[in-house]
Amino acid sequence: MDKIIRAENLIFDYKQNEEKKLSSRLAINDISFEIEEKTFVAIIGKNGSGKSTLAKNINALLIPSGGTMWVDGYDTKDDTLIWNIRKSAGMVFQNPDNQLVSAIVEDDVAFGPENLGIESGLIRERVDEALKAVNMYEFRKKAPHLLSGGQKQRIAIAGVLAMRPKCIVFDEPTSMLDPKGRSEVMEIINTLNKEGITTVLITHFMEEALKADKIIIMEDGKIRMEGTPKEVFARKDEIRQMNLDIPMSVEMADLLRKKGIDVPLDIVTEEQLYEYIMTYN
Ligand code: ADP
Ligand code: MG
Repeated sequence: MDKIIRAENLIFDYKQNEEKKLSSRLAINDISFEIEEKTFVAIIGKNGSGKSTLAKNINALLIPSGGTMWVDGYDTKDDTLIWNIRKSAGMVFQNPDNQLVSAIVEDDVAFGPENLGIESGLIRERVDEALKAVNMYEFRKKAPHLLSGGQKQRIAIAGVLAMRPKCIVFDEPTSMLDPKGRSEVMEIINTLNKEGITTVLITHFMEEALKADKIIIMEDGKIRMEGTPKEVFARKDEIRQMNLDIPMSVEMADLLRKKGIDVPLDIVTEEQLYEYIMTYN
């Protein structure tokens, strides 16, 4: 499979000076990783570990201080490629209010494709399609500020979808939402991934990360762990040492094993565990 995102010895320094000398505290400290097209990768890590800085490097909102970031084959250091990069990799942020710019939902969704210089007839088509994909088509004439947090975030996602990206980076998209909004948004994210959009989800909800093909754990600007949810959560003690939560379903499976029930190690999500228990005899 193709690697849609590839970072090689990536460094990002918010304090880099004019002589390109690096400071002692690097937000991204020499990391390398690859993301395969159409996969779902979750990035977790404590506050300040460098997740948002990494996300902005993928979207070319920030340019590496060292090493290289390739997005869909484009080197983000080449500023003539910026629109190719933004077209390939869209980004959805934490706060939906900061992402919505227009007074009417459909104008908001049209904003991205308009900026890409897409012909107006085609924009119409793309806006409708994007709104339908996030189940917000019936709200197209409404004012964004009257919508719930989950609905606003879905409009923000539609705005990115209307640019037809291959990849979307979501930076804690559910952290300001109530449980209902959170599940609406996660359902859309999971569906878009199944339809072939490469998904990078930064989250502090472990349950969301469990749905990923791969989890990357960051700490102090470094990648501390990388693997399938099963591989990562098999190293529970190290994860606890990083002050991160262990998903309830993983704890429960472990507890059952201690009670002598041989729950297979590849059972990590709540749904899998439920299914296993219901068919256990
Ligand atoms: P996370 O998203 O994991 O919470 P960030 O990428 O936001 O982490 O931050 C990584 C490090 O970079 C932190 O030490 C943070 O204080 C620092 N940092 C983030 N944004 C800026 C900025 N605009 N200017 C200077 N330092 C920053
Ligand atoms: Mg962040």
